[in-house]
Amino acid sequence: RGFLERIERLDGQLNSFITVTAESALAAAADADARRAAGEAGPLTGIPIAHKDIFCTEGVRTSCGSRMLDNFVAPYNATVVERMAAAGCVMLGKTNMDEFAMGSSNETSYYGPVRNPWDTDRVPGGSSGGSAAAVAARLAPGATGTDTGGSIRQPAALTGLTGLKPTYGRVSRWGMIAFASSLDQGGPIAASAEDAALLLNAMAGFDPRDSTSIDRAVPDYTAHLGESLEGLRIGLPKEYFGAGLDPEVAAAVHAAVREFEALGASVREVSLPNSHLAVPAYYVVAPAECSSNLSRFDGVRYGYRCEAPRDLEDLYKRSRGEGFGAEVKRRIMIGTYALSAGYYDAYYLKAQQVRRLISDDFRRAFGEVDVLLGPTAPTPAFRLGEKTDDPVTMYLSDIYTIAVNLAGLPGLSLPAGFAAGLPVGLQMIGDYWSEARLLNAAHRYQ
Ligand code: GLN
Repeated sequence: RGFLERIERLDGQLNSFITVTAESALAAAADADARRAAGEAGPLTGIPIAHKDIFCTEGVRTSCGSRMLDNFVAPYNATVVERMAAAGCVMLGKTNMDEFAMGSSNETSYYGPVRNPWDTDRVPGGSSGGSAAAVAARLAPGATGTDTGGSIRQPAALTGLTGLKPTYGRVSRWGMIAFASSLDQGGPIAASAEDAALLLNAMAGFDPRDSTSIDRAVPDYTAHLGESLEGLRIGLPKEYFGAGLDPEVAAAVHAAVREFEALGASVREVSLPNSHLAVPAYYVVAPAECSSNLSRFDGVRYGYRCEAPRDLEDLYKRSRGEGFGAEVKRRIMIGTYALSAGYYDAYYLKAQQVRRLISDDFRRAFGEVDVLLGPTAPTPAFRLGEKTDDPVTMYLSDIYTIAVNLAGLPGLSLPAGFAAGLPVGLQMIGDYWSEARLLNAAHRYQ
């Protein structure tokens, strides 16, 4: 009730929710009370959470931030939604997001932009900006997000939260509307590393319904919180501290690194020489996969259908033309072009080769160090409208996060001070399956 009341009172300013499920939340909370009374409560029993509106929720609209799915009520729950409900979480509602998760500022949503609670003239980041704004304003204690190129970590950074993008295959993508299937991964956005660990415990695990899910035991991510960082080897990728990085953000990151040294970690410089190729490779691979995934929205099977189509072709063209926003159309066109006959080898295949080089950079770095530290985003939260006319500038807000998705590695953003009075995110990248180590290091720092 307390959280629902805060949503009611404050979300008019933030626009972080697309749908609030007050009635079912109160019913689920009553069930949780009963379980608690019966002595059957786990750590998440009765804990309210919000789901990014990309996760299918049975009987509840799942819009993916798009006019295309404005009328779509999912007939089933995503695995993440099922698992969290089974752990006792109470869903407060569905959070706003960039349309089909394409964006870094939450300004491409059909439902209007989300505002950053730290300064409502500024963006909360994206694409999981509704989840981040909701948790930052304490409209929910925790939320789910998805990260294809930074969409958990960057909004967590811009709103002063802890967000974790797990290793690819750790969290099921079943029922999570696909943007770029080889990059998408769900994860938690929370107020602390400990909260993120509790949420990841519920989200993670093998799912036979997702062919890219990996059958590997899920540790208790809270079990190692509080272990010493003595001997932890930290690498600072020199490419993450170059031109384009706001000096105040750099100063906050360096101060955090000194804290880690004080906690017993050793620090050295490392190199990820192909870093400059991550954004260009991503903007071939992600649109290519998006153009293929979004072909299912044809005005026939799901969602929006144009008025009075003349024939089938008109139905396709107008339903897609009217149902998708500008950024989604831009991605579909780039991706379709990159995959077309005669260009496939020059663009898609080349981008996949670059992707391998980027993974190899990380593999070499993790031969020398345990974790990599750097900024999550080059600047703190920018103003609404500041980058909307220039897609390339917008794409560069993910310059430090995108390589992690191309390699399938886990990455965490944690709050590390302020720049110009706005939160700064510190990104911590680990080797495959090192979520527990990342969460513990963030917890010790916090
Ligand atoms: N900002 C990046 C994009 O627009 C990443 C989005 C994401 O991680 N979903 O594609």
